[in-house]
Amino acid sequence: MDDSFIFNELAENREDYFGAVAPPIVQTSNFAFTKVEDLKQALGEEYSAHLYSRGLNPTSDILRKKLAALDKAEDCLVFNSGASAIFAAILANVASGDHIISVEKPYTWAQKMFDVILQRFNVSTTYVHGSDLNQFEEAIKPNTKVIYLESPNSWEFTLQDLSGVAELAKRNNIITICDNSYCTPLYQKPILHGIDLVLQSATKYIGGHSDVLGGVLSGKQAMIKRIFESELLNMGNATSPFNAWLLLRGLRTLPVRLERISKTTRTVIDFLKGHSLVEEVIFPMDPSFSQYELAKKQMKGACGLFTVILKTDSRDQIVKFCESLKHFLIAVSWGGHESLVFPKCASMESNEFDRQNREHRMIRFYTGLEDAEYLIKDIQQALGKL
Ligand SMILES: *Cc1c(COP(=O)(O)O)cnc(C)c1O
Repeated sequence: MDDSFIFNELAENREDYFGAVAPPIVQTSNFAFTKVEDLKQALGEEYSAHLYSRGLNPTSDILRKKLAALDKAEDCLVFNSGASAIFAAILANVASGDHIISVEKPYTWAQKMFDVILQRFNVSTTYVHGSDLNQFEEAIKPNTKVIYLESPNSWEFTLQDLSGVAELAKRNNIITICDNSYCTPLYQKPILHGIDLVLQSATKYIGGHSDVLGGVLSGKQAMIKRIFESELLNMGNATSPFNAWLLLRGLRTLPVRLERISKTTRTVIDFLKGHSLVEEVIFPMDPSFSQYELAKKQMKGACGLFTVILKTDSRDQIVKFCESLKHFLIAVSWGGHESLVFPKCASMESNEFDRQNREHRMIRFYTGLEDAEYLIKDIQQALGKL
Protein backbone atom coordinates (compact mmCIF):
# COMPACT_ATOMS: atom_id res chain seq x y z
CA MET A 1 0.00 0.00 0.00
CA ASP A 2 1.43 3.40 -1.01
CA ASP A 3 1.98 5.92 1.77
CA SER A 4 0.08 8.52 -0.30
CA PHE A 5 -2.95 6.25 -0.31
CA ILE A 6 -2.67 5.77 3.45
CA PHE A 7 -2.46 9.50 4.17
CA ASN A 8 -5.27 10.65 1.88
CA GLU A 9 -7.67 7.80 1.19
CA LEU A 10 -7.40 4.74 3.41
CA ALA A 11 -10.42 4.33 5.73
CA GLU A 12 -12.02 7.59 4.58
CA ASN A 13 -15.58 6.65 3.64
CA ARG A 14 -16.58 10.14 2.57
CA GLU A 15 -19.93 8.99 1.17
CA ASP A 16 -20.93 8.24 4.78
CA TYR A 17 -20.50 11.86 5.82
CA PHE A 18 -21.76 14.17 3.06
CA GLY A 19 -18.57 13.95 0.98
CA ALA A 20 -16.76 15.99 3.62
CA VAL A 21 -13.03 15.96 2.84
CA ALA A 22 -12.09 16.15 6.52
CA PRO A 23 -13.62 13.35 8.58
CA PRO A 24 -16.22 14.12 11.26
CA ILE A 25 -15.43 14.21 14.96
CA VAL A 26 -17.97 11.71 16.25
CA GLN A 27 -18.19 13.34 19.66
CA THR A 28 -20.36 10.82 21.43
CA SER A 29 -19.86 8.63 24.47
CA ASN A 30 -22.66 6.21 23.62
CA PHE A 31 -24.13 4.37 20.63
CA ALA A 32 -27.78 3.25 20.32
CA PHE A 33 -29.24 0.11 18.72
CA THR A 34 -32.61 -0.58 17.12
CA LYS A 35 -32.45 -4.32 17.82
CA VAL A 36 -31.71 -5.98 21.16
CA GLU A 37 -29.95 -8.73 19.23
CA ASP A 38 -27.47 -6.15 17.82
CA LEU A 39 -26.80 -4.79 21.32
CA LYS A 40 -26.22 -8.35 22.52
CA GLN A 41 -23.69 -8.93 19.74
CA ALA A 42 -21.87 -5.68 20.48
CA LEU A 43 -21.64 -6.59 24.17
CA GLY A 44 -20.19 -9.96 23.27
CA GLU A 45 -17.65 -8.65 20.75
CA GLU A 46 -16.85 -5.01 21.48
CA TYR A 47 -13.67 -5.16 19.39
CA SER A 48 -15.81 -5.10 16.23
CA ALA A 49 -18.66 -2.84 17.37
CA HIS A 50 -19.48 0.73 18.26
CA LEU A 51 -20.96 0.29 21.73
CA TYR A 52 -19.37 2.94 23.93
CA SER A 53 -16.49 5.35 23.16
CA ARG A 54 -14.24 4.03 25.94
CA GLY A 55 -13.76 1.25 23.37
CA LEU A 56 -14.15 1.99 19.67
CA ASN A 57 -15.18 5.27 18.07
CA PRO A 58 -15.59 5.99 14.32
CA THR A 59 -13.13 8.94 14.31
CA SER A 60 -10.39 6.99 16.05
CA ASP A 61 -11.12 3.96 13.80
CA ILE A 62 -9.98 5.99 10.76
CA LEU A 63 -6.77 6.91 12.56
CA ARG A 64 -6.18 3.33 13.71
CA LYS A 65 -6.45 1.95 10.19
CA LYS A 66 -3.96 4.47 8.82
CA LEU A 67 -1.44 4.02 11.64
CA ALA A 68 -1.59 0.22 11.48
CA ALA A 69 -1.00 0.37 7.71
CA LEU A 70 2.02 2.65 8.20
CA ASP A 71 3.48 0.24 10.76
CA LYS A 72 2.72 -2.72 8.40
CA ALA A 73 0.85 -4.23 11.33
CA GLU A 74 -2.44 -6.14 11.34
CA ASP A 75 -4.03 -3.69 13.78
CA CYS A 76 -3.29 -0.96 16.29
CA LEU A 77 -4.79 0.88 19.24
CA VAL A 78 -4.52 4.60 19.90
CA PHE A 79 -4.14 5.61 23.54
CA ASN A 80 -4.42 8.98 25.28
CA SER A 81 -0.60 9.17 25.57
CA GLY A 82 2.56 7.29 24.69
CA ALA A 83 2.98 6.42 28.36
CA SER A 84 -0.43 4.68 28.27
CA ALA A 85 0.63 2.63 25.25
CA ILE A 86 3.81 1.56 27.09
CA PHE A 87 1.84 0.66 30.21
CA ALA A 88 -0.73 -1.44 28.32
CA ALA A 89 1.84 -3.25 26.16
CA ILE A 90 3.91 -4.35 29.14
CA LEU A 91 1.07 -5.05 31.57
CA ALA A 92 -0.64 -7.29 29.01
CA ASN A 93 2.40 -9.55 28.80
CA VAL A 94 3.55 -10.12 32.40
CA ALA A 95 2.21 -11.72 35.57
CA SER A 96 3.56 -12.02 39.10
CA GLY A 97 6.88 -13.87 39.14
CA ASP A 98 7.85 -12.91 35.58
CA HIS A 99 11.03 -11.26 34.39
CA ILE A 100 11.65 -8.50 31.83
CA ILE A 101 14.80 -7.56 29.94
CA SER A 102 14.92 -3.86 29.04
CA VAL A 103 17.48 -1.67 27.33
CA GLU A 104 19.27 0.70 29.70
CA LYS A 105 17.87 4.22 29.94
CA PRO A 106 14.54 3.61 28.24
CA TYR A 107 11.97 6.41 28.21
CA THR A 108 11.56 7.74 31.79
CA TRP A 109 8.06 6.39 32.35
CA ALA A 110 8.90 2.95 30.99
CA GLN A 111 11.73 2.83 33.51
CA LYS A 112 9.43 4.00 36.33
CA MET A 113 7.00 1.26 35.44
CA PHE A 114 9.79 -1.35 35.70
CA ASP A 115 11.43 0.09 38.83
CA VAL A 116 8.43 1.26 40.84
CA ILE A 117 5.11 -0.24 39.75
CA LEU A 118 6.06 -3.72 38.54
CA GLN A 119 8.32 -4.33 41.55
CA ARG A 120 5.23 -4.15 43.74
CA PHE A 121 3.77 -7.05 41.74
CA ASN A 122 6.90 -9.22 41.88
CA VAL A 123 7.95 -8.60 38.28
CA SER A 124 11.68 -7.97 38.01
CA THR A 125 13.70 -6.23 35.28
CA THR A 126 17.28 -6.68 34.08
CA TYR A 127 18.78 -3.78 32.13
CA VAL A 128 21.23 -4.39 29.30
CA HIS A 129 23.13 -1.88 27.15
CA GLY A 130 21.60 -3.57 24.14
CA SER A 131 24.24 -2.78 21.50
CA ASP A 132 25.33 -6.45 21.46
CA LEU A 133 22.98 -9.43 21.02
CA ASN A 134 24.92 -11.47 23.58
CA GLN A 135 23.85 -9.04 26.29
CA PHE A 136 20.24 -10.09 25.71
CA GLU A 137 21.06 -13.77 25.45
CA GLU A 138 22.98 -13.75 28.74
CA ALA A 139 20.15 -11.96 30.55
CA ILE A 140 17.45 -14.49 29.59
CA LYS A 141 16.01 -16.45 32.53
CA PRO A 142 13.43 -19.27 32.48
CA ASN A 143 10.76 -16.71 33.55
CA THR A 144 11.67 -13.98 31.02
CA LYS A 145 8.46 -12.93 29.26
CA VAL A 146 9.25 -9.58 27.66
CA ILE A 147 12.21 -7.89 25.95
CA TYR A 148 11.69 -4.13 25.90
CA LEU A 149 13.55 -2.09 23.27
CA GLU A 150 13.85 1.56 22.32
CA SER A 151 15.83 2.04 19.14
CA PRO A 152 17.22 4.62 18.95
CA ASN A 153 16.71 5.99 22.47
CA SER A 154 16.34 9.69 22.87
CA TRP A 155 19.59 11.08 24.39
CA GLU A 156 22.43 8.87 23.17
CA PHE A 157 20.50 7.18 20.34
CA THR A 158 21.77 3.71 21.17
CA LEU A 159 20.33 1.14 18.74
CA GLN A 160 19.49 -2.52 19.00
CA ASP A 161 19.71 -5.01 16.15
CA LEU A 162 15.94 -5.41 15.80
CA SER A 163 15.98 -8.53 13.59
CA GLY A 164 18.58 -10.21 15.79
CA VAL A 165 16.71 -9.54 19.04
CA ALA A 166 13.38 -10.59 17.48
CA GLU A 167 14.85 -13.89 16.34
CA LEU A 168 16.48 -14.60 19.71
CA ALA A 169 13.22 -13.78 21.50
CA LYS A 170 11.13 -16.02 19.22
CA ARG A 171 13.45 -18.98 19.91
CA ASN A 172 12.85 -18.41 23.64
CA ASN A 173 9.12 -17.67 23.51
CA ILE A 174 9.60 -14.08 24.62
CA ILE A 175 7.46 -11.13 23.48
CA THR A 176 9.38 -8.18 22.00
CA ILE A 177 8.17 -4.59 22.41
CA CYS A 178 9.89 -1.65 20.68
CA ASP A 179 9.45 2.08 21.29
CA ASN A 180 9.70 3.62 17.81
CA SER A 181 8.97 7.26 18.76
CA TYR A 182 12.29 8.56 17.41
CA CYS A 183 11.88 7.23 13.87
CA THR A 184 8.10 7.10 13.37
CA PRO A 185 6.89 4.34 11.01
CA LEU A 186 8.15 6.41 8.06
CA TYR A 187 11.79 5.90 9.02
CA GLN A 188 11.65 2.49 10.69
CA LYS A 189 9.19 -0.41 10.72
CA PRO A 190 10.10 -2.76 13.60
CA ILE A 191 7.24 -5.16 12.70
CA LEU A 192 9.10 -6.00 9.46
CA HIS A 193 12.08 -7.02 11.61
CA GLY A 194 9.91 -9.49 13.53
CA ILE A 195 9.16 -7.32 16.60
CA ASP A 196 5.81 -8.32 18.17
CA LEU A 197 4.56 -4.97 19.46
CA VAL A 198 5.69 -1.54 18.28
CA LEU A 199 4.68 1.64 20.03
CA GLN A 200 5.24 5.34 19.57
CA SER A 201 4.32 8.56 21.26
CA ALA A 202 1.97 10.17 18.73
CA THR A 203 2.42 13.36 20.77
CA LYS A 204 5.71 13.83 18.94
CA TYR A 205 5.78 13.66 15.13
CA ILE A 206 2.26 12.34 14.41
CA GLY A 207 0.51 15.24 16.18
CA GLY A 208 3.36 17.47 15.05
CA HIS A 209 1.98 20.76 16.42
CA SER A 210 2.56 20.47 20.19
CA ASP A 211 -1.16 20.55 20.88
CA VAL A 212 -2.23 16.94 21.46
CA LEU A 213 -1.08 13.82 23.35
CA GLY A 214 -1.42 10.31 22.00
CA GLY A 215 0.19 6.87 21.86
CA VAL A 216 0.06 4.11 19.25
CA LEU A 217 0.46 0.39 19.84
CA SER A 218 0.60 -1.93 16.80
CA GLY A 219 0.91 -5.67 16.37
CA LYS A 220 -0.82 -8.90 15.40
CA GLN A 221 -4.61 -8.77 15.56
CA ALA A 222 -4.93 -11.46 18.25
CA MET A 223 -2.57 -9.57 20.57
CA ILE A 224 -4.16 -6.17 19.86
CA LYS A 225 -7.65 -7.59 20.46
CA ARG A 226 -6.53 -9.09 23.76
CA ILE A 227 -5.06 -5.74 24.89
CA PHE A 228 -8.19 -3.90 23.76
CA GLU A 229 -10.50 -6.21 25.69
CA SER A 230 -8.43 -6.15 28.83
CA GLU A 231 -5.97 -3.30 29.44
CA LEU A 232 -7.52 -0.60 27.24
CA LEU A 233 -11.15 -1.10 28.31
CA ASN A 234 -10.17 -1.56 31.93
CA MET A 235 -7.89 1.49 32.16
CA GLY A 236 -10.17 3.56 29.95
CA ASN A 237 -7.20 5.26 28.32
CA ALA A 238 -8.17 5.31 24.64
CA THR A 239 -7.75 8.56 22.73
CA SER A 240 -10.76 10.89 22.65
CA PRO A 241 -12.58 11.55 19.33
CA PHE A 242 -11.32 15.14 19.21
CA ASN A 243 -7.71 14.12 19.88
CA ALA A 244 -8.01 11.36 17.27
CA TRP A 245 -9.11 14.02 14.81
CA LEU A 246 -6.16 16.29 15.67
CA LEU A 247 -3.81 13.32 15.21
CA LEU A 248 -5.42 12.55 11.83
CA ARG A 249 -4.87 16.15 10.79
CA GLY A 250 -1.24 16.03 11.93
CA LEU A 251 -0.69 12.75 10.11
CA ARG A 252 -1.61 14.30 6.71
CA THR A 253 1.58 16.38 6.69
CA LEU A 254 3.93 13.92 8.42
CA PRO A 255 6.01 13.09 5.30
CA VAL A 256 6.67 16.73 4.35
CA ARG A 257 7.42 17.73 7.92
CA LEU A 258 9.89 14.89 8.38
CA GLU A 259 11.58 15.65 5.07
CA ARG A 260 11.96 19.31 5.96
CA ILE A 261 13.11 18.61 9.52
CA SER A 262 15.67 16.03 8.37
CA LYS A 263 17.21 18.52 5.94
CA THR A 264 17.32 21.36 8.46
CA THR A 265 18.80 19.06 11.10
CA ARG A 266 21.58 17.98 8.74
CA THR A 267 22.48 21.62 8.04
CA VAL A 268 22.42 22.60 11.72
CA ILE A 269 24.55 19.59 12.66
CA ASP A 270 27.12 20.38 9.95
CA PHE A 271 27.43 23.88 11.40
CA LEU A 272 27.77 22.60 14.97
CA LYS A 273 30.39 20.00 14.06
CA GLY A 274 32.57 22.72 12.55
CA HIS A 275 32.37 25.04 15.58
CA SER A 276 35.36 25.35 17.90
CA LEU A 277 33.21 25.32 21.06
CA VAL A 278 31.51 22.01 20.19
CA GLU A 279 33.10 18.84 21.55
CA GLU A 280 30.69 16.30 20.11
CA VAL A 281 27.40 15.93 18.24
CA ILE A 282 25.55 12.64 18.71
CA PHE A 283 23.22 11.77 15.84
CA PRO A 284 22.53 8.22 14.59
CA MET A 285 22.79 9.07 10.88
CA ASP A 286 26.17 10.75 11.24
CA PRO A 287 29.21 8.76 10.03
CA SER A 288 30.89 9.49 13.39
CA PHE A 289 28.12 7.66 15.27
CA SER A 290 29.32 4.38 16.82
CA GLN A 291 26.40 2.36 15.39
CA TYR A 292 26.17 4.21 12.06
CA GLU A 293 26.24 0.98 10.00
CA LEU A 294 23.35 -0.54 11.94
CA ALA A 295 21.43 2.75 11.72
CA LYS A 296 21.79 2.76 7.92
CA LYS A 297 20.74 -0.87 7.78
CA GLN A 298 17.50 -0.66 9.74
CA MET A 299 16.49 3.02 9.58
CA LYS A 300 15.45 4.97 6.49
CA GLY A 301 16.29 8.28 8.10
CA ALA A 302 16.68 10.29 11.27
CA CYS A 303 14.81 13.42 12.16
CA GLY A 304 15.18 16.46 14.35
CA LEU A 305 16.58 15.08 17.59
CA PHE A 306 20.31 15.08 18.39
CA THR A 307 22.59 15.72 21.36
CA VAL A 308 25.39 18.24 21.69
CA ILE A 309 28.27 18.33 24.16
CA LEU A 310 29.96 21.73 24.40
CA LYS A 311 33.64 22.22 25.19
CA THR A 312 32.88 23.31 28.72
CA ASP A 313 32.47 21.41 31.95
CA SER A 314 30.77 24.33 33.69
CA ARG A 315 27.10 23.98 34.50
CA ASP A 316 26.78 27.79 34.47
CA GLN A 317 28.09 27.96 30.90
CA ILE A 318 25.64 25.27 29.74
CA VAL A 319 22.77 27.14 31.39
CA LYS A 320 23.97 30.45 29.93
CA PHE A 321 24.10 28.96 26.43
CA CYS A 322 20.55 27.57 26.66
CA GLU A 323 19.12 30.76 28.13
CA SER A 324 20.86 32.89 25.48
CA LEU A 325 19.05 31.11 22.64
CA LYS A 326 16.22 33.26 21.30
CA HIS A 327 14.54 30.90 18.84
CA PHE A 328 14.97 27.57 20.62
CA LEU A 329 12.55 27.10 23.51
CA ILE A 330 13.82 25.40 26.67
CA ALA A 331 11.45 22.43 27.00
CA VAL A 332 11.03 18.66 27.08
CA SER A 333 9.31 16.68 24.29
CA TRP A 334 9.85 17.22 20.53
CA GLY A 335 8.20 16.63 17.17
CA GLY A 336 6.38 19.97 16.93
CA HIS A 337 6.90 23.00 14.69
CA GLU A 338 9.15 24.76 17.21
CA SER A 339 12.82 24.11 17.91
CA LEU A 340 13.82 23.11 21.44
CA VAL A 341 16.76 22.55 23.76
CA PHE A 342 16.76 20.42 26.89
CA PRO A 343 19.97 20.39 28.98
CA LYS A 344 20.54 17.20 30.98
CA CYS A 345 21.55 19.29 34.00
CA ALA A 346 17.89 20.39 34.30
CA SER A 347 17.08 16.85 35.48
CA MET A 348 19.34 17.06 38.53
CA GLU A 349 20.15 19.25 41.51
CA SER A 350 23.07 21.59 40.80
CA ASN A 351 25.21 19.88 43.50
CA GLU A 352 24.71 16.54 41.69
CA PHE A 353 26.27 17.93 38.53
CA ASP A 354 29.53 16.09 37.89
CA ARG A 355 31.90 17.91 35.53
CA GLN A 356 33.63 14.64 34.65
CA ASN A 357 30.39 12.97 33.65
CA ARG A 358 29.87 13.32 29.92
CA GLU A 359 26.16 12.61 30.26
CA HIS A 360 25.61 15.51 32.69
CA ARG A 361 27.00 17.89 30.07
CA MET A 362 24.61 16.85 27.31
CA ILE A 363 22.16 19.25 25.67
CA ARG A 364 19.43 17.66 23.61
CA PHE A 365 18.40 19.64 20.55
CA TYR A 366 15.26 19.36 18.47
CA THR A 367 15.02 21.25 15.19
CA GLY A 368 11.50 22.12 14.12
CA LEU A 369 10.14 23.75 10.98
CA GLU A 370 12.12 27.01 11.03
CA ASP A 371 14.76 27.89 8.41
CA ALA A 372 18.15 26.34 9.04
CA GLU A 373 19.93 29.72 8.72
CA TYR A 374 17.58 31.31 11.25
CA LEU A 375 18.44 28.58 13.77
CA ILE A 376 22.16 28.60 13.01
CA LYS A 377 22.40 32.37 13.56
CA ASP A 378 20.73 31.89 16.91
CA ILE A 379 23.13 29.13 17.98
CA GLN A 380 26.04 31.26 16.77
CA GLN A 381 25.05 34.24 18.92
CA ALA A 382 24.42 32.03 21.97
CA LEU A 383 27.83 30.35 21.58
CA GLY A 384 29.31 33.85 21.26
CA LYS A 385 28.15 34.56 24.82
CA LEU A 386 30.42 31.84 26.25
C1 LIG B 1 7.49 11.19 24.75
C2 LIG B 1 7.91 9.78 24.70
C3 LIG B 1 7.10 8.77 25.22
C4 LIG B 1 5.83 9.03 25.97
O1 LIG B 1 4.87 9.63 25.22
P1 LIG B 1 3.76 10.61 25.83
O2 LIG B 1 2.87 10.82 24.68
O3 LIG B 1 4.48 11.83 26.30
O4 LIG B 1 3.11 9.89 26.96
C5 LIG B 1 7.54 7.47 25.07
N1 LIG B 1 8.70 7.17 24.48
C6 LIG B 1 9.50 8.13 23.98
C7 LIG B 1 10.78 7.74 23.34
C8 LIG B 1 9.14 9.46 24.07
O5 LIG B 1 9.96 10.40 23.60
